[in-house]
Amino acid sequence: MSMTYNFSAGPGVLPSEVITQIKQEFEHNEHTHMSIIEISHRSKKFQKIVSDAEQKLRQLMSIPEDYAVIFLQGGGSTQFEMLPLNLATHKQHVAILDSGNFAAKAAEAVLELGKNVTVLNSTKSIKYQTLPELPSNFNSEKYDYLHIVTNNTIEGATYHQNNLPETDGRLVADMSSNILAEPYDISRFDAIFAGGQKNLGPAGVTVAIIKKDWLSEQDITGVGPMMRYKNHIDKQSMYNTAPVFSIYALNLVLDWVLQQGGVDEMYQRNLAKSKKLYDYLDQSTFYSAPVKSADRSLTNVVFTTGNLEQDKKIAKAAEEEGLFNLSGHRSVGGFRASLYNAQPMAAVDALISYLKKVEKQA
Ligand SMILES: *Cc1c(COP(=O)(O)O)cnc(C)c1O
Repeated sequence: MSMTYNFSAGPGVLPSEVITQIKQEFEHNEHTHMSIIEISHRSKKFQKIVSDAEQKLRQLMSIPEDYAVIFLQGGGSTQFEMLPLNLATHKQHVAILDSGNFAAKAAEAVLELGKNVTVLNSTKSIKYQTLPELPSNFNSEKYDYLHIVTNNTIEGATYHQNNLPETDGRLVADMSSNILAEPYDISRFDAIFAGGQKNLGPAGVTVAIIKKDWLSEQDITGVGPMMRYKNHIDKQSMYNTAPVFSIYALNLVLDWVLQQGGVDEMYQRNLAKSKKLYDYLDQSTFYSAPVKSADRSLTNVVFTTGNLEQDKKIAKAAEEEGLFNLSGHRSVGGFRASLYNAQPMAAVDALISYLKKVEKQA
């Protein structure tokens, strides 16, 4: 086996240059005389890493000054709770477009917190193969915000910049699996979050980007200190011990994205990679990609032979050819090839040639 490729949806593939750099710096650092996983989160060295990472993320995503950028723990799932606790304090009512598993989970969390949720539209009955649209009679006044998932990691449908719901109210986006993969106009959103382990770095860090004036309007009486965005913002992401290693690695990934040419370059590459794979799947009589073409994800390409048992065997046998983690999420089966920023075109080429070989033998 010469090259191996990791198609996992998360933790996902990281740039090989970043892995090499981490390896070189891991044991002994010329500035700190200790490993990065031993340094204090209060040290100057680490404080600089945090502020550099924030600046680079601002630059890459063109985040306006009136948005706070913080690094948190607890994964994307903790944001399902922090968002309503901090931002649904007036109407106690969140609107959601049910575009997949992670939208449904976010809705559940709001309910568990004793607040109201209205699912405005859902494509669950058609297995989320298209995106639910915002109903034309949507009245944003009734809700604190509308929650959407830009990229549906499990089902493979995406609200791209050109098909985002148009609302005059507050809009919150879960960008866990396509942040930095394609461009979005940040001013369209009032809060954005992303767990780190899909397209930003290793697990253990979550990014939150929140419009400051909106946050300051909220009544957070009764919200515990760790769950308050304000505390994390006031302490520049160091309210408690920060995930030092994850933020360090995230900072290296942001350097890498900048060196490669930024989000526009990532977008062009992701378009090219995903198009090559979808084009192959669409002409194939053996495989099919079920998501409606305008809604298709650039980062998580979902497909199947139509026989889930057969899919499982093909994904397993792919490991012999160096192609790992091609099975779909356990809840849906089939195949899922994650093509995050660090996934090279060579991985797509290797995957297509494997799929072709299997098709020929079938
Ligand atoms: C992975 C994922 C989550 C959950 O993230 P955790 O870090 O596992 O809590 C939430 N939303 C989306 C879109 C995801 O892809």
